[in-house]
Amino acid sequence: MGLLSETDPPPFSHRPHREASPFVLVSDHAGRQVPSVLRDLGVAAADWDRHIAWDIGIHGVGVALHEALGATLIEQVYSRLVIDCNRAPGHPTSMPLTSDETPIPANVAATAVCRAAREAEILHPYHDRIAGELARRERAGEPTALIALHSFTPCMNGVKRPWHCGVLHHRDTRSARIMLDLLKGEPGLCVGDNEPYVLSETSDYTVPRHAEAAGLPYLELEIRQDLIADPSGQNEWAERLARLLPQYWARLSAA
Ligand SMILES: [Zn+2]
Repeated sequence: MGLLSETDPPPFSHRPHREASPFVLVSDHAGRQVPSVLRDLGVAAADWDRHIAWDIGIHGVGVALHEALGATLIEQVYSRLVIDCNRAPGHPTSMPLTSDETPIPANVAATAVCRAAREAEILHPYHDRIAGELARRERAGEPTALIALHSFTPCMNGVKRPWHCGVLHHRDTRSARIMLDLLKGEPGLCVGDNEPYVLSETSDYTVPRHAEAAGLPYLELEIRQDLIADPSGQNEWAERLARLLPQYWARLSAA
């Protein structure tokens, strides 16, 4: 039995590059679709507007950045509550039982068959597309940096977060150091260094799998959601990143 029906959208959206660019933009939490057979997962309508369902604002940033840079953009279309595409298959929060204190009833009740279908039809096709794009670029000899786009809630479990944006890094810190330096040069920005999260092999999947395992340079960028809640904020951040990313690449290439 299939999970996705003919009326459900494909699991990822791929906007191909228009110009030669070193950047592959990926967005694990850009969408909040739910396969029609899963209805609303038992989650109230108001909760679908919250950060638990998706990375608020990051789709607008990603599309505007794609437009500005001409770089390829691969986005997950389904909600992180259906399956979190920045978690390894089988991870305890891959299909969260609760998120920021909100229970997800359909995940509590999900059968092994349903879980396997979400992996097979949503998680794997998205990551296979990213892997395919990276492999194509490697064969073509195109230098590449993976740019993972995320947004974070200003307040989590009752704790306010002061950062406007954050750069996450793990073993390979070369790219993060450069981007942290560039972002800290922007007037008035409070920049988190491995904040609001620390990148790790267990808390993340996309960067460890596609970048660190392959020795590929990467940036995992987090933008606070209240700053990109509307199109003007999304464009402002896309313009900033479209200006800074080429500077980052130039510095990395010169190192
Ligand atoms: Zn995210």
